[in-house]
Amino acid sequence: MTRSHAEVVIIGGGHNGLVAATYLARAGHEVAVLEARSELGGAVASKAVFEGVAARLSRFSYLVSLLPTLIIDELGLRLELRSRQVRSYTPVDSGGLLIERQEGRLTHESFRALTGDDREYRAWTALEAGLRELAVAVEPTLTAPLPRAAELRDRVDQELWSSVVERPLGELVEARFANDTVRGVVLTDALIGTFTSAHDPSLRQNRCFLYHMIGNGNGEWKVPVGGMGTVTAELVRVAQEAKVSIQINCPVVSIKPLADSGATVYLRDGQSISADMILVNCAPATLQQLLGTPCEPPVGSQTKINIVLRRLPRLRSGIEPAVGFAGTLHLGQGYARLQQAYQESSSNQIPEPMPCEIYCHTLTDGSILDPELRAAGYHTLTLFGMHTPANLFAADPAGSRERAKDAALRSLQSVLAEPLAPCLALDRRGEPCIEVMTPLDIEAELGMLGGHIFHGDLDWPWLADDTSVATPAERWGVATGYPGILMCGSGAVRGGAVSGLGGHNAAMAVLEGD
Ligand SMILES: Cc1cc2nc3c(=O)[nH]c(=O)nc-3n(C[C@H](O)[C@H](O)[C@H](O)COP(=O)(O)OP(=O)(O)OC[C@H]3O[C@@H](n4cnc5c(N)ncnc54)[C@H](O)[C@@H]3O)c2cc1C
Repeated sequence: MTRSHAEVVIIGGGHNGLVAATYLARAGHEVAVLEARSELGGAVASKAVFEGVAARLSRFSYLVSLLPTLIIDELGLRLELRSRQVRSYTPVDSGGLLIERQEGRLTHESFRALTGDDREYRAWTALEAGLRELAVAVEPTLTAPLPRAAELRDRVDQELWSSVVERPLGELVEARFANDTVRGVVLTDALIGTFTSAHDPSLRQNRCFLYHMIGNGNGEWKVPVGGMGTVTAELVRVAQEAKVSIQINCPVVSIKPLADSGATVYLRDGQSISADMILVNCAPATLQQLLGTPCEPPVGSQTKINIVLRRLPRLRSGIEPAVGFAGTLHLGQGYARLQQAYQESSSNQIPEPMPCEIYCHTLTDGSILDPELRAAGYHTLTLFGMHTPANLFAADPAGSRERAKDAALRSLQSVLAEPLAPCLALDRRGEPCIEVMTPLDIEAELGMLGGHIFHGDLDWPWLADDTSVATPAERWGVATGYPGILMCGSGAVRGGAVSGLGGHNAAMAVLEGD
């Protein structure tokens, strides 16, 4: 067995691992990143998925909201994050609810046409204003040591704080809105990546909702020009410039904490590396496995479907496809339907119709398509199927993947004015360009246990008023219980999503302890 030593070892070269590595290497640390897969970036990746079709899809994650400008600027990342013209569209019977990115006349008229008067629109704009206040208070704290809840509570409307932070979100939704579609549009953000219901007393839905609302102080979800792979490419560039040592195809198989601080990591090929500090980019449950203390994996519940189209299909409501597909297209996401779908999947059934979100990258950024495909009118669709927990797929992974695909495509077909099949692009073998990944597939591809897209349910991005914190790791929300081992990924407090926050905050904790 070969043994070596490094100052800092980072387990995983996901986007967070790369962020941490660059901050620490620039501060003078000797940093080694060990990545299990043959590619870096984890869930932040682009790939030409379909043979013979030159479309580089954001294969896993697809939109950016929570990556702070501070991290982009400090690392010098050359990224363009582009706004979508439409925030969301929800087809309903022969009409629909259109919400512009900058809510104006069309949004107002759409609310009125759907709901009959201005009450829902006024309730919507009031909630938006309150959430903006909360976002402006919380967002700057994300790249600083954890604030106390009281510091933030004192800065926002008390009723809003109580209904977002202290009581199940379903109460807010039902008290403020009467229309089922509007209620569903609000609730959806609480359920993306979180398997739960509106009234879950654990409030995990509230925490998920909060993260969807606070990015860069306005909650806007932006399109990375060039696709998600450009984010990783930039992070790799700055890491390499900072002289980070990066090894791919290098899975860590176990970790042994050392008595005083630091730990030894053991690799698949029998080598071991001892380090003063280990940063863990993989999920907290994976860390437990590596430490030899297995725990229940988290429950991932999203099915990701990547599609390439020869052209956008027409929508039954008559809205221009270039408008309807330009933002987040909500399908089967009425409030009652979301609740019912949760019951169905909790009883081990694939929900039908499946609640889905769809987004067309190429309406905002065509650069991920080869110019010929662009000129021919091709488009890409990302479909996120909700309430599809991993256990639905355990007994028959291939058969249930096919059933989930059919349920998701039926959801899409139900709002179209024409059959979807002729609109689908075909790969070199003549097969429709549709890639389906259940939570089990996401786990197999990325090592994300349970296929949980955030490595586990999200935490409040602050400290409870009565929690005491002593170490830099605790102050920054990256502690693991072992002094020489810190979380640096999605599983850190505030780490979830494409944000770099797990990496940034772990690096800051290390530097504070220097
Ligand atoms: C399908 C999907 C869609 C999503 N959509 C969005 C979105 O649009 N916007 C958004 O903000 N978020 C989205 N998310 C969530 C977001 O992508 C993740 O939360 C985030 O990318 C996690 O980044 P990370 O660097 O912390 O971890 P990961 O991306 O999981 O990277 C961890 C790395 O560690 C490696 N690793 C694991 N175990 C070991 C080991 N034993 N040894 C060595 N290496 C190991 C893995 O191979 C991986 O490269 C999505 C996630 C998924 C899966």
